[in-house]
Amino acid sequence: MGSWHPECPARLDAISDQMLSSGIASYVNERTRVKPVTREALLRVHSEQYLDLLARVSPSEGHHAVDPDTFMNPKTLDAAMHAAGAVVGAVDSVMGGETATAFCCVRPPGHHALPDQAMGFCFFNNVAVGAAHAMAVHGVKRLAIVDFDVHHGNGTEVMFSNDPRVLMCSFFQHPLFPNTGIDNPAPNMVNVPVAAYSSGAAIREIITREWMPRLEAHRPELIMVSAGFDAHREDDMGQLGLVEADYAWITRQLVELADRHAQGRVVSTLEGGYNLSALARSVVAHMRVLGKL
Ligand SMILES: [Zn+2]
Repeated sequence: MGSWHPECPARLDAISDQMLSSGIASYVNERTRVKPVTREALLRVHSEQYLDLLARVSPSEGHHAVDPDTFMNPKTLDAAMHAAGAVVGAVDSVMGGETATAFCCVRPPGHHALPDQAMGFCFFNNVAVGAAHAMAVHGVKRLAIVDFDVHHGNGTEVMFSNDPRVLMCSFFQHPLFPNTGIDNPAPNMVNVPVAAYSSGAAIREIITREWMPRLEAHRPELIMVSAGFDAHREDDMGQLGLVEADYAWITRQLVELADRHAQGRVVSTLEGGYNLSALARSVVAHMRVLGKL
């Protein structure tokens, strides 16, 4: 998005480095070749006009600004199609029984992308594309989307509000971009806005009290995660106080929930996380619990 931008390729390099130095890389079945998402899969959550618009404004050189924070370069559309395609591929692998859990280490992120609008560094709503694919192609009848990014997943909320098959649980710092999620959420949305400087302990209490009873009652057959790591105390994009142990704890709640209801099936996808060291350490903590490593 430009050399100054926090949503940068170094994020994925930092994660790869930490996977190697932590020793988990050799226990992970890593796939670097994924198929780009199909138009059919995108059209389950995005509009035809929006897909045409993105193709039209995609620059052949330089950058095109879709909003003051979000830029396309000549390769952005291809990257976004592979990011969404990775989540679709992960859903296929998990629903096909090839693996119980998957982490999609992708960018650009997705949870702010609306049906007909790119925003907040996001173009295609990767987790939503994957969830819609799971329901349409694999016949998943009850699905949970858990979003622990510091920002509210406004795009995902718009796409699944009032869809009784989907239960979406999130906490997010409020007020903070995109300043959504507090006015009349649909009954299938469990939104917990939290104040700046909330601690990891406070977040754990919220998850235990607000998320888990709803998730247990929903009995999801598949759990999808919008895994943003910008609620980390070292990440300046927000002002929350989570650390690696909190991400491991949250992941453990989800893995145990999946073991009870979903045959262990969890598909997680990277959203935010901009302090490179904190991001990489947190992703590894998340993956260790996901993969029971
Ligand atoms: Zn975020």
